[in-house]
Amino acid sequence: KPVVIITIGMAGAGKSTFVQRINAHLHAQTPPAPPYILNLDPAVASTPFETNIDIRDTVDYHEVMKQYNLGPNGGILTALNLFTTKFDQVLELVEKRAETVDYVILDTPGQIEIFTWSASGAIITDAVASSFPTVIAYIIDTPRSSSPATFMSNMLYACSILYKTKLPFILVFNKTDVQKHDFALEWMHDFEAFQMALAGHQGTTDDEGEPTYMNSLMNSMSLVLDEFYKHLKAVGVSSMTGDGVDEFFKAVEASREEYEKEYLPELARAR
Ligand code: GDP
Repeated sequence: KPVVIITIGMAGAGKSTFVQRINAHLHAQTPPAPPYILNLDPAVASTPFETNIDIRDTVDYHEVMKQYNLGPNGGILTALNLFTTKFDQVLELVEKRAETVDYVILDTPGQIEIFTWSASGAIITDAVASSFPTVIAYIIDTPRSSSPATFMSNMLYACSILYKTKLPFILVFNKTDVQKHDFALEWMHDFEAFQMALAGHQGTTDDEGEPTYMNSLMNSMSLVLDEFYKHLKAVGVSSMTGDGVDEFFKAVEASREEYEKEYLPELARAR
């Protein structure tokens, strides 16, 4: 059975470039292993890769905006909702190709919350994950996450997605050609190193020598994150140069096993 890779990321993190890169990587294997690609972004002008199923073939989001008198975000969300009503047919098409493809890639809308905070996003994720081994690839803009506070907000966002989906999760630190992700790994593995970095940025105590509100809040939150880090894999990738893509696929294979060992039994219990 193929593994489904659901790619999620903040706008500008490099999601499209990443999908383009892993697509090229799979095509370049011997023998070539072209993935099956689904585009779920109704508002994307063009994708830098060929898609097998494209939401834009089914719904015209400009028409949806006009017809329902919506703004761009409402238009995108409604287009995704309309598409979701037909998702059983989409799954059938994927099932038909299940014998011949190793990877199915789901590219989600550029505005992250349209997928992560909508009923449609949850329905699509659950539908896919109950049919195929599924993994979330969370794309992070590494250079833009190098300040401790931004890093933590980004990790908390990832954490909320993990707890909603409960699926195997890979943090993809993208753009390592611009900035290496060592600092991130260090902060994830060494709680004290992260606290030190935080302290350097904002000072740990107020005028009376008491810990500042921000500092104690951050400290408690980093304890939560410590638990979160134990449940995921992290890889550094440059979608620009292709560096780290092999490690990414290793993490995907490990996630397939995790899905079978942990997610599937949970699914069976829930039924
Ligand atoms: P998306 O909005 O998440 O789909 O992001 P894009 O794929 O459109 O990328 C946003 C910007 O980041 C573009 O200018 C890309 O060229 C750039 N970018 C993406 N991946 C990398 C990378 O690995 N290294 C560098 N240096 N730039 C990247």
